[in-house]
Amino acid sequence: MKKSAKIYVAGHRGLIGSALVRALKDRGYKNLLTRPHQALDLTHQNKVDRFFEREKPEYVFLAAARVGGIRANDTYPAEFIYQNQMIQANVLHSASNHGARKLLFFSSSCIYPKKSRQPMKEEYLMTGPMEPTNEAYGAAKMAGLVMCQSYRRQYGANFISVIPANVYGIHDHFDENGHVLAALIAKFHEARVKKKKQVTVWGTGKPRREFFYVDDLADAALFLMENYDRAEPINVGTGQETSIRVLAEKVKEAVGFEGEIVYDTNRPDGNPRRLLDSSRIRAMGWRPGTSLERGLELTCRWYAETILKKSVKP
Ligand code: GDP
Repeated sequence: MKKSAKIYVAGHRGLIGSALVRALKDRGYKNLLTRPHQALDLTHQNKVDRFFEREKPEYVFLAAARVGGIRANDTYPAEFIYQNQMIQANVLHSASNHGARKLLFFSSSCIYPKKSRQPMKEEYLMTGPMEPTNEAYGAAKMAGLVMCQSYRRQYGANFISVIPANVYGIHDHFDENGHVLAALIAKFHEARVKKKKQVTVWGTGKPRREFFYVDDLADAALFLMENYDRAEPINVGTGQETSIRVLAEKVKEAVGFEGEIVYDTNRPDGNPRRLLDSSRIRAMGWRPGTSLERGLELTCRWYAETILKKSVKP
């Protein structure tokens, strides 16, 4: 990508999109194209097509999506499958119609089968049913991946798909509809400020996840935009798993909460494990740079300085 290339980041205000914009600006890309949701609703085909016709971006990072944690996925499955399919169908189709040179689609590790062998290699996709709590989202994210492959096969479009591990970081959703790490930061901070004695963590605490700092994902995405041109999706993660129990202890310590942790086993655990085998991107020379401890520290600090100040009163 030339530094002057016109690069559209769809979803630039979200967790992943905002990290992409930071990474692109840091590296001197000058011609970034973004549109806030109010200016361009990506679920509307005509609006999206007119936008691509007018702007003709050369490169597209498709990070716009309806996302959320286990509770949001379980509560709003219709919205998750509808909005994600609409967004990706519209953006991929218009990018192809209006001559984008390359597009990178963010899929999700929840598209792997619930009972997949671990760590999960790209070829294990579609070998078994998905975890029911994230099936609607997963089905949409699987369809996006197949759509990229189909446009490549029929039209020769250079569309690639990335499967990231559980992403977290600044600009995440820090509430009960968010993913576990951000949700726990919010819960522990609130409990500390309000001097509560307990924090409730959902499920058994036994599931394990591969927590991946969002700036590392943005770095990997830029690397793949430059170096990867194949139909097969590619996994990106740290290669390290952490149980929810250990994560909860780490967040408790990072936040400085002194009470106890209790587990609400009436809440679902979701996938028991979800560890990606990222050996393909490793073999290309890419490595993540942020430890979980460092990523937690950065995320906690950002939360305390931006959101906590405004929202939680003792
Ligand atoms: P998932 O990775 O798609 O399953 O989504 P989440 O990040 O929402 O949840 C990961 C795991 O963390 C699940 O086993 C949840 O039950 C557990 N968990 C524990 N406490 C919380 C919480 O407060 N919020 C969320 N979202 N998950 C929690």
